[in-house]
Amino acid sequence: PVAEQKQKHEDVKSFQDLQQEVLDRGLCGRCGGCASFCSADEMNALDFDRTDGPHLISDDNCLKCGICYLICPQIKALDAEVRERFGWQPPIGSFRSIVSARTTEPKVAEVCTDGGVVTSLLRYALEKRIIHGALVSRKIGPFQREPFLATSPDELIDAAGTHFDEVQHLGDFGKGYSTYSPTIQEIKTLGQRRLDRVALVGTPCQIYTVRKMQVLSILPADSIVFTIGLFCMENFSFDAAAKTTLEKNLGLNIDDVAKLNIKDDVIITTTAGKVIHLPFEAVDEIARPACMACPDFANDFADVSVGGLGSPDGYTTTVIRSGLGQKLFNGAKHARLIRQLSLGGKDRAKLHRTELMAKITSFARRKKARARETFAA
Ligand SMILES: Cc1cc2nc3c(=O)[nH]c(=O)nc-3n(C[C@H](O)[C@H](O)[C@H](O)COP(=O)(O)OP(=O)(O)OC[C@H]3O[C@@H](n4cnc5c(N)ncnc54)[C@H](O)[C@@H]3O)c2cc1C
Ligand code: SF4
Ligand code: SF4
Repeated sequence: PVAEQKQKHEDVKSFQDLQQEVLDRGLCGRCGGCASFCSADEMNALDFDRTDGPHLISDDNCLKCGICYLICPQIKALDAEVRERFGWQPPIGSFRSIVSARTTEPKVAEVCTDGGVVTSLLRYALEKRIIHGALVSRKIGPFQREPFLATSPDELIDAAGTHFDEVQHLGDFGKGYSTYSPTIQEIKTLGQRRLDRVALVGTPCQIYTVRKMQVLSILPADSIVFTIGLFCMENFSFDAAAKTTLEKNLGLNIDDVAKLNIKDDVIITTTAGKVIHLPFEAVDEIARPACMACPDFANDFADVSVGGLGSPDGYTTTVIRSGLGQKLFNGAKHARLIRQLSLGGKDRAKLHRTELMAKITSFARRKKARARETFAA
C-alpha cells in the first residue's frame, strides 16, 4: 500500500513540474504564491527569495498536493474553470460598462496615479463598511513597492501616493529594484487578522491567482470579496548593473524618478517635475521575463478593471464588470466621491466608450500575441 500511495502521489503535478514548466523556462514572476500556500510549509518543503524565486528544500517533505502547481499564474490548467466561474467573454472578459472617471477628493487627486478612482472607490467601501480592509501596495523607494492591509480610508492615501520613506526601507532591497509588489504573499496574513471582507488591488497575474485560489477553495481567498484589477503591459525588475545601463540610456538618475505611470506608453515624472514619455521598447530590457509570457492586459477576472489607457490625463479608464463593482461605483458616484467624464450628449458618450473599448481590445490583443511569441520561442 505504501508503494501504491507513492505511485498515486507521483501522478499528481507538484513543485518538480513547476520547476520544469515555469522556473527552468525563466517564466517565474516571483509572486511567492507557491511557497506561501505550500501545504507542507511547516515541514520546510519550499523556500522563497524575492530575487531568486522559490526553490525546493526537500522533495521528501513535499506532500504532492498540487496546490503550488495549480495556483501559479503561469500555469493555465484551471483556465476553463476560472472562465466559467467568472463568466469570461471575449475579447476582454465580461463587463457592464466602461467609463472615464476621476476622484473629487482633493487629497486623493494630489497623489493618485491617474484619476484616483481606485482609492476613492476603496475609501467609499471602507467608510460604508462594505469591506473591512484593502490589500494595496505603497511606494517605498524609486521602483520599489510593498503590500500592506489598509483598514482606514486615510491609510489608502499612502497606497495611491508617490511619496516614500527612503531611509527606513531601502536596505531591504539591496539585491535589486522591482516595481512588482508581492501582494500574493500578503494574502496569507489575512487569515491571522480574522478579517472576512477584504478588497484587493492587483495586476492581472495577481487577480488570476486569487481567482484560482477561490476556485480551489484555498483559505483565506474567500475573504477577498472585491477585486480591483490594474491594466498591465509589464512590470519592471532590474539589478544594480542594469540600473547603470538604463540610467545611461535614459540620461536620468533612477533615484530622481518621482512617479512611474503606464498608459499608451511609459511615463516618467522626475522629482524636478520633468515628464518623459518612453515607448515600451525602450524599457523592454528591464521588463520581467515572466511578463513577456503573460496574456492578460485588461485584468479580465477582476470586479472592476482600471488603467489610464484611452482617458484624458487625470482620469481613470474604469471597466465595471461585476454587480458589486457596479454597486460600489454607483455608491461612490452618488456620494460625490467620484465623477464621470461629462461628454455632453449621448452620441459623444457612446463614441468615447467605443474608443475606450477599441483601445483596450487592441492592447489586449497585442499582449496576447506577445505571450504567444514568447511561448513559441
Ligand atoms: C505594474 C503596473 C502596470 C500598469 N500598466 C498599465 C498599462 O499598461 N496601461 C494602463 O492604462 N494602465 C496601467 N496600469 C494602471 C495605472 O498605472 C493605474 O494604476 C490605474 O489607472 C489606476 O489609477 P488610479 O489613479 O485610479 O489609482 P490610484 O488611486 O492612484 O491607486 C493606485 C492603486 O494601485 C496599487 N498599485 C500601485 N502599484 C502597484 C503594483 N506594482 N502592484 C500592485 N498594486 C499596485 C496601489 O496599491 C493603489 O491602490 C499599470 C499599473 C501597474 C501597477
Ligand atoms: S510565478 Fe509565483 S507561483 Fe509560479 S513558480 Fe514563480 S513564485 Fe511560484
Ligand atoms: S505583465 Fe502579466 S505577469 Fe507581468 S506584472 Fe503584469 S500581469 Fe503580472
